[in-house]
Amino acid sequence: MRIVLDAGHGYSTPGKRTPDGMREYEFNRVVAQYAREELLRYLDTEILFTHSDERDVPLQERTDRANNWRAQAFVSIHANAFGNGGWNTVQGIETYTPIASSPDSDRLAGMVHRRLIQATGRRDRGIKSENFHVLRETDMASILCECGFMTHFQEAQLLKTDSYRRTCAVAIAEGLVEYFNLQLKPTPPTTTRLYKVQVGAFQAKENADNLAAELNQKGFNTFVFNEQNLYKVQAGAFLQKENAESLATTLRSQNYTTFISI
Ligand SMILES: [Zn+2]
Repeated sequence: MRIVLDAGHGYSTPGKRTPDGMREYEFNRVVAQYAREELLRYLDTEILFTHSDERDVPLQERTDRANNWRAQAFVSIHANAFGNGGWNTVQGIETYTPIASSPDSDRLAGMVHRRLIQATGRRDRGIKSENFHVLRETDMASILCECGFMTHFQEAQLLKTDSYRRTCAVAIAEGLVEYFNLQLKPTPPTTTRLYKVQVGAFQAKENADNLAAELNQKGFNTFVFNEQNLYKVQAGAFLQKENAESLATTLRSQNYTTFISI
């Protein structure tokens, strides 16, 4: 399967940053990188990046490359913004499909969006259609994911973390896996195994939110996600088990019940 991952914008694109200075492209490119790593664990998967760390690739060039390569799916990765550059309360995740009828795009959007919401626990702003160039000018199933608001203080802090970037990337990749019914390669590289540090699991979302807020006050970068009808607080996700154990030890020393899951 030929899949295009398109990190929106470029390092030097004006605007496109949080009020405290994170550039949107930093988030987009890392999510694309992690999604690529995840997808290459599957058979018959080829990935093309249409962005560049050197320049903001023009939209027409991005869609021409995807079409010429005869890609079968195009996923553009972004972080959202609202208002005139300051912090505000608009938050959540939304996924876009083309204006023109595209059942394949709709199906892919459904699979990716559901996982993004489940994995991050952020507000569900729904699947929407918009006349974006990258959706209009691509010949294949195409979607655009807005993975959180740079202008919402809490989401901006999440967008900066490696843990949240990897969580978004895995959600996007798993949506593509379902869409194409991809099968794992016989010997997946162990380096993509993630050790997740979890602090609590609650039936009431409010309790999880309160614990996450308390931990964030203390300088941790946590977020709440839903799994098997429980709201869980994740404090980090690591490739190296020792790093996960180190964070878990720190949390335990502050009397938090902590465990590591894979
Ligand atoms: Zn963007």
